[in-house]
Amino acid sequence: MESTHKKEIFDALSGNHRNVVVVSHTSPDGDALGAALAMQSLLIGLGHCATVVLPDSFPDYYSWLFGIGEVIIASECPDKAKTVIEAADLQLIVDMNALKRAQSLESVLRSVAVQRILIDHHIFPENVFDLAISDVNASSTCELVYEFIDEFRPDLMNLSMAECIYTGIATDTGNFFHGNLTARTFNITAKLIDKGVDVIRINQLVYNAFSENRLRLLGFSISERLHVLTNKNAAYIYLTADDLNQFGHNEGDTEGIVNYGLSLKGIHISVLFLEKPEFIKLSLRSEGEINVNLIASKYFDGGGHKNASGAHFYGTMEEAINLFLKALEEL
Ligand code: 5GP
Ligand code: MN
Repeated sequence: MESTHKKEIFDALSGNHRNVVVVSHTSPDGDALGAALAMQSLLIGLGHCATVVLPDSFPDYYSWLFGIGEVIIASECPDKAKTVIEAADLQLIVDMNALKRAQSLESVLRSVAVQRILIDHHIFPENVFDLAISDVNASSTCELVYEFIDEFRPDLMNLSMAECIYTGIATDTGNFFHGNLTARTFNITAKLIDKGVDVIRINQLVYNAFSENRLRLLGFSISERLHVLTNKNAAYIYLTADDLNQFGHNEGDTEGIVNYGLSLKGIHISVLFLEKPEFIKLSLRSEGEINVNLIASKYFDGGGHKNASGAHFYGTMEEAINLFLKALEEL
C-alpha cells in the first residue's frame, strides 16, 4: 500500500534543470492547492521551472495562498494548459491517485511520454507513475510534502510554503477533527507553527469567510434537504441545481455540508448529493470502521479514503439516491 521513492525523487530534482508541470484534481481543495503550491515553491527554489495547472477553479477562501494567482486553470484557458503540459519534461501529480481525477487534463497528461512523479495519500494509485510517495496513513498530501521538504531541503521552507502546507493539513482533517489524525500530524503542525504560521489568521481566512448566501444555503440544506435514516445509521442531503442557483452558489459553498450528517448522534454515514450540469457529485463520509470507499467504488465508480470518498454519477438525482439506498441495504 505504501510506496516511497523519496531518494529517487530527491535525485530527479537534484540534477539538471527541469521544466515541471504540477497538477492536481478537479474542484481543488486546500490539500490539493497547498501541496501543489508548496512543491512549486520548492522546485523554483531548486532552480527548476515549475507551473501549476488545475482542471478547474478553486474557492475564493484560498485566494490568499502564495502563488495561487499564477495557477493556470484549464477550464478558463484550455490552450495554455495544454501547451504547458506538452512543454514539460516532468509531471508532478499531487493529491490524486489516478489521472482521470484531473478530468479534462487526463488525455494530454497521458499523451506525453515524460517522467511522472506522484505525491499522494489515496489508496490504490494508478500504475502510471515512475516514482511515487504514496502513503495512505498520512492525514493529507501536505503532510507528505512537509516531510519531503524537511528531509531534502529544509533551508528552502519559507513561511509562505509553511502556510500552504498548514492549510492542506487543516482542511483535509476538517480542522483537526477527523481522518488520519496522528501524532505525526500534530508534530508537523507544531513545526509549521514554529516556522511562523498564524493559525488564528488562517482560521479566519478559510473558515470565517462565508458569504451570506453560503450560510443560508447551509441552513436550507439542513432544514429542507436532510434525510435521516435512523435504522441505517445514515443520513443524506441533496441539493438540486435550482437549490444551488437560488442561493447564488459559488465554488466551495457546499464544502463541509456533508459533515453535518455525522454530527447527529448515532449517525455514522453521511452523503451529500449535488446536482451539477453534467452529473451528480457525491461526497461520502463515515465514522470508525465503516468504509464509504467501498460504496463509492462499487456502486458509483468513485473512490477516496475509508472515511471520506467521492464520486460522479451520470444519471438523475433520484437514481443516485436510490442507488445509495440500495448500497445501504447490501452493506
Ligand atoms: P469530496 O467529497 O471532498 O469531493 O472528496 C472526498 C475524497 O474523495 C477526496 O479524497 C477526493 O479526492 C476523493 N474523491 C472525490 N471525488 C472522487 C471521484 O469522483 N473519484 C475518486 N476516485 N475519488 C474522488
Ligand atoms: Mn488530500
